[in-house]
Amino acid sequence: MDPLKALADAERKPYWLDSPAKPEPQPRLFGNTTADLVVVGGGFSGLWTALMAKERNPSLDVVLLEGRRIGWAASGRNGGFTMATLTHGLANGLERWPEEIATLERMGLANLDEIGETVARYDIDCGYERTGELNVATEPWQLEDMQESVQIAREMGLHFDILDQDQIRAEVNSPTYVGGFWERDGCAMIDPARLAWGLRQACLSLGVRIYERTPVRSIKDTQTSMELLTPNGTVKAGKVALGTGVFQPLLRRLKHFLVPVYDYALMTEPLSAEQMAAVGWHNRQGIGDSANQFHYYRLTADNRILWGGYDAVYYNGGKIKPEYEQRDETFVKLAEHFYTTFPQLSGLRFTHKWGGVIDTCSRFSAFYGQAHGGRLAYAVGYTGLGVGATRFGANVMLDMLSGERTERTELRMVKEKPLPFPPEPVRSVGIQMTRWSIAQADRHQGRRNLWLRTLDRMGLGFDS
Ligand SMILES: Cc1cc2nc3c(=O)[nH]c(=O)nc-3n(C[C@H](O)[C@H](O)[C@H](O)COP(=O)(O)OP(=O)(O)OC[C@H]3O[C@@H](n4cnc5c(N)ncnc54)[C@H](O)[C@@H]3O)c2cc1C
Repeated sequence: MDPLKALADAERKPYWLDSPAKPEPQPRLFGNTTADLVVVGGGFSGLWTALMAKERNPSLDVVLLEGRRIGWAASGRNGGFTMATLTHGLANGLERWPEEIATLERMGLANLDEIGETVARYDIDCGYERTGELNVATEPWQLEDMQESVQIAREMGLHFDILDQDQIRAEVNSPTYVGGFWERDGCAMIDPARLAWGLRQACLSLGVRIYERTPVRSIKDTQTSMELLTPNGTVKAGKVALGTGVFQPLLRRLKHFLVPVYDYALMTEPLSAEQMAAVGWHNRQGIGDSANQFHYYRLTADNRILWGGYDAVYYNGGKIKPEYEQRDETFVKLAEHFYTTFPQLSGLRFTHKWGGVIDTCSRFSAFYGQAHGGRLAYAVGYTGLGVGATRFGANVMLDMLSGERTERTELRMVKEKPLPFPPEPVRSVGIQMTRWSIAQADRHQGRRNLWLRTLDRMGLGFDS
């Protein structure tokens, strides 16, 4: 179908948030209150922190402050790939923390197991399916890169199965696939908005006080307590955890390490039984292709296909604006790529198109830290893979705030910070040059130009 026609009736909003399951908002904060712990941000990062703080110590008085609505930002509009990796993939982790990677993989798998257990314990209806991820190669050079990763993964005892062209097409039928591998344990698929709303309900059931539409304007350290100022009230607290993602950081130093990158997705109408038969996909894995500019895609509970990725857009100047959540040029490109991958679905139309902003840092995986004499902790910089990893980051923040030294807090990955991005306008020039170079590499069998090789040597990068 002509992509423009296929997109013509698509609603300009995130599919997951456009749901009758969306709860009524919790109240705004009016007046002054106190708490033992204040969590700022009602995405996965903040929700996991508040929930696990209560699970660790039920008598702790916990307040969560969300500037808009629970789950409205990245957490409610993502692909729903809940990955075990804490390092934005094995290759990135191996490159940066080789001596820790086995520990990080073990902790990541345990974290994913515990997400599954939490979903079951609180009976969260978020379509949790631990189907694993299919990594597909669409060009022979991608297969060569894969072989090495799979071998290392297997040596570490991870369950990765190599699939040749026939085997991978037997899983999911696309004429573009030349091979790939199935990472069996490392990924669960979820409906992200329903997970966020379910975690919200779990928090409330344990006594967390949640205030929505209550942005924190500033945090004052009065020596005796931390004071969080909001438009209509104040919270005085002993400790603060920041799960504020990419938004204007309440701790100034964070702004040097984070850039907002926009990622876009489409949702199709549900596939008929015949259309499902034409693609196969009986094992319902999440799928990612393996170029530097990659697509990610998956089935929903009612057999729609979410199709996203490819363009990762940094708007010069680094602003976050509602109008950036729509980009027709990218939607058309995504639709074209969809029909190339699945020509047998050429009659299928799209019902939703949307974008969202990602907290990218130069090492691609979250970083952690403390301020105000250990009374404030933060975890940010998930770079497009935070659905699972935010729960790990929440545990790191709680460990730090308790003053405990744990296996988590002693990790080099947790102690180190990424390299900062240069200030504007150099930042914009550097990022656009990197994006251009990445696209060139995909056109030339993955070969990286001098600019990318220099960044690689410096441990600096740009990804989504
Ligand atoms: C299109 C898209 C697809 C993605 N796909 C995947 C995927 O498949 N798998 C994956 O692992 N990751 C994916 N991601 C990334 C993932 O969604 C994020 O890493 C994760 O949701 C980050 O959670 P968070 O809580 O840190 O941030 P957010 O979800 O951004 O939440 C931060 C919250 O803090 C609030 N806040 C900020 N400042 C203040 C303040 N001063 N006062 C009060 N509240 C404040 C915001 O309003 C917001 O609600 C995707 C992201 C996008 C945009």
